[in-house]
Amino acid sequence: MNNSRQIDRHGRLRHFLSIEGLNRKLLTDILDAAESFSGVTEQTVKKVPLLRGKTIVNLFFEASTRTRTTFELAAKRLSADILNINITQSSTVKGETLLDTLRNLEAMHVDMFVVRHADSGAAHFIADHVAPHVSVINAGDGRHAHPTQALLDIFTIRRVKGPDFGRLRVAIVGDIMHSRVARSQIHALNLLNTGEIRIVAPKTLTPAHAESLGVHVFHELRKGIEDADVIIMLRLQRERMQGALLPSEHEYYELFGVTEAKLAAAKPDVTIMHPGPINRGVEMDSEVADGPHSVILAQVTHGIAVRMAVMSMAMHHKESATE
Ligand code: ASP
Repeated sequence: MNNSRQIDRHGRLRHFLSIEGLNRKLLTDILDAAESFSGVTEQTVKKVPLLRGKTIVNLFFEASTRTRTTFELAAKRLSADILNINITQSSTVKGETLLDTLRNLEAMHVDMFVVRHADSGAAHFIADHVAPHVSVINAGDGRHAHPTQALLDIFTIRRVKGPDFGRLRVAIVGDIMHSRVARSQIHALNLLNTGEIRIVAPKTLTPAHAESLGVHVFHELRKGIEDADVIIMLRLQRERMQGALLPSEHEYYELFGVTEAKLAAAKPDVTIMHPGPINRGVEMDSEVADGPHSVILAQVTHGIAVRMAVMSMAMHHKESATE
């Protein structure tokens, strides 16, 4: 996909559609901005006036809990007005096309769309059709990308392990094949020159030519997490699987489920992550999910500051479009 359009000619964020096309400096700038916003989210009065008077629409065609609510909170903390459009109740189910829906929302002077859609490329399509002053943020498109999730994951790793990704071994475990999160994480980890990126999955859930993404591929959990500094677990994305790619969830747990005992193979200070939603007893035990190595809830908290950073930087483009 062509991502050049997400950066303007001054090198600033215009849309935020995928990690591909970002450079290391811009990625680090977003993380640094998120760092300063995380101060805001810890204050008693959790608001800054940066996006006062702006209107943002959360346009979600697919279910979401964490992503939708943290985008909403992020917009509110930036003092923007935000509408949530639940697509099952909207006119698109009455036959109105996506473009008609967009045009109508634009006519209400919307400044930014945050889009989640089951089709890969949906956010790019919308970005191609909005008015020049409107920004589009991808909140997950099919199996393609979930760039704000990857950023909040990177932000969390940087907080826990420090800024030198070159000394880190990161293992991503689970359903890599259907995961937009894994794809975006791999691009972001590569941009930061991570020491080693591993993917650990059954053969049936490993994308073809995975090595070309710059990762080492493992089909055995213990070997895959050996000496890992960070383990990111992913959900089995049943809704995207066509046919039976797995014998059973129980067998998956036996082979790839992370337990306290199996964790011994990783570094003693390993960090455990998961984008959610977690399936306890499938990709990991509760002992691991709620244990001392887990930063799963910190990831959710960091999502607010990271989304504040992305929204305010993309909206800044709009401010300067008239320069
Ligand atoms: N919440 C993430 C996503 O939207 C991961 C998942 O659903 O498993 O892609």
